[in-house]
Amino acid sequence: MKKIFVLGVIFVFCYLYFFHAYFVDRSRNQYDQKEYPNLSVENSKFHKKLTVIDLHADQLLWNRDLYQKVNYGHFDWHRAKEGGIDIQILSSVTRVPFGVNYHSNSSDTDMIGVLAFLQHWPVKTWFSEYERANYMLDKLHNYSKSHKIVFIQNPKDLETLPSQDQIGVIFSVEGAHAFEGSIEKFQQLYNKGLRMVGLTHFFDNDVGGSAHGVKKNGLTPFGKKLLSLMEEKGVIIDLAHSSDKVFSEVFQLAKRPFVVSHGGVKGTCNSPRNLSDSQLMMIKKNKGMIGIGFWDEAVCGIGVKYIVDAIEYVVRIIGDDYVGLGSDFDGTVHTPFDSRGVKQITQELLNRGYTVESIRKIMGENALRILKQGLKPRILSASS
Ligand SMILES: [Zn+2]
Repeated sequence: MKKIFVLGVIFVFCYLYFFHAYFVDRSRNQYDQKEYPNLSVENSKFHKKLTVIDLHADQLLWNRDLYQKVNYGHFDWHRAKEGGIDIQILSSVTRVPFGVNYHSNSSDTDMIGVLAFLQHWPVKTWFSEYERANYMLDKLHNYSKSHKIVFIQNPKDLETLPSQDQIGVIFSVEGAHAFEGSIEKFQQLYNKGLRMVGLTHFFDNDVGGSAHGVKKNGLTPFGKKLLSLMEEKGVIIDLAHSSDKVFSEVFQLAKRPFVVSHGGVKGTCNSPRNLSDSQLMMIKKNKGMIGIGFWDEAVCGIGVKYIVDAIEYVVRIIGDDYVGLGSDFDGTVHTPFDSRGVKQITQELLNRGYTVESIRKIMGENALRILKQGLKPRILSASS
């Protein structure tokens, strides 16, 4: 009996330690489409010529080689090339509470610490959000040793876009708690290539309130300090997951365009996660943008139709200069397709009669404009 118990414990441990993270990745990053309809020759040529930029994916969270062709998860180099993605922002998720939801979460528990252990990340990542971001950034540096990845860090890197067999990547953090309240830690990640910061994620942190936090407050004094430092250095502010108060305060304070890297709009999907019309107006005034998410809860449905409905809504309210793509690939979400399917958004926009110019903006040129502006360090005047 005792022998069976010991064997059982060993079995459970082995499953957890060697296989569980793989099954979590497989089961939580699902997509529906297994076959991809070919675009007509003409439309396919048109899509290939577009600059396609996706503002948010979490591939770095998983132990999945970026260059390995696999049939699960959403994003890898091969599938992104097939889908025609030119630039991908790769984010680092550093803390998510157990039982996470869109309404109210505290930061008491830590699922990513468990995932770091189960994926055999270095021990220092098990207890530190900063070390987790740093580890994912190191992964990206390793990937960028191949000529297939261009690690974009300066506006100059955007002058020539990635060639046929390359993808440009930008590194971001999802939640400024990754700096653990320390400007030095922000600086260290910046020195290694951090160029976009999502201020909050699923809980209120030491920078400000989350849309899914308990208090949902505005910016803290540390948050305000960080905000001006980010603009000074050329780091783009991402308001995805921010509380309404943080959103309005950043709108008042920001001197640069900000992004909402991945999300939806209340106009087509009334969720606490999504932006109201007045927030869309703030985006327009700021000359920023929203990247429309591809997953169910962002657009209230799984299908290219729902994604394009949300894009169309933004275009109707504030025009076609402030909207783009924010897939959330590999962010434990269920999407209609993986990276290969992005070209279907171009097809759907064509089907709906969008002009060539408008499709160019939506698929990537709006994002390119903001990246070019946002990555430029701000020259401070003596009075500022
Ligand atoms: Zn997110």
